[in-house]
Amino acid sequence: MTTARPLVLIVEDDARIRRFLRPALEAEKYELAEAETGQAALVAASGRPPDLVVLDLGLPDMDGLEVTTRLREWTKAPILVLSARGREKDKVAALDAGADDYMTKPIGIPELLARIRAALRRRAAAGPGEEPAVTVGDLTVDFANRRVLVAGREAKLTPTEYRLLALLARHPGRVLTHAHMLREVWGPLREEESHYLRVHMANLRQKIEAEPARPRYLLTEQGVGYRLAAE
Ligand code: CA
Repeated sequence: MTTARPLVLIVEDDARIRRFLRPALEAEKYELAEAETGQAALVAASGRPPDLVVLDLGLPDMDGLEVTTRLREWTKAPILVLSARGREKDKVAALDAGADDYMTKPIGIPELLARIRAALRRRAAAGPGEEPAVTVGDLTVDFANRRVLVAGREAKLTPTEYRLLALLARHPGRVLTHAHMLREVWGPLREEESHYLRVHMANLRQKIEAEPARPRYLLTEQGVGYRLAAE
């Protein structure tokens, strides 16, 4: 936990439900932030990373699953889904997207509070959270906003290039194997296709390295994989 009072972000377009949750959470000494749309939630979370997110799935501008996926790119803060959708497959989809827990509306306040406490305890036991951005030398990967800056200028990456770089940037200095990177970016069926990786890594170097043939950031571990320089 970064603050004495955990910051809980409530993402819910229904004002009645927000009014219902607010006094209960404040009584437990949580700090509250609220967002009525998915976009507002992503902006709020990147501005002030929450310690826990209570998330409705049916939002006016995007699905809560999409919000979950986007948050999971950079934060491990517990996400508690609170939804009217009660089918098994909706729960599985939310958990697969990275949610920690799922509750079906209508919910009782005591149960919600108990699940929030449990999620925060698990999170505290798991160690410190990830940063919304990583900087190595002149290179910054801003996970919260999906932006990459090189010496202060934004690099225009394709979605695949961004995913590759973000993957490496989550583990600066650590070697990631070809198979691991292929699986994370293209899925398990592409684990053998290392030429995909070579081509996209070459393009990525063209965009972020001053001298692509002598990379400063994206280092090759011959026959093994790649790593992002740690400093
Ligand atoms: Ca809703």
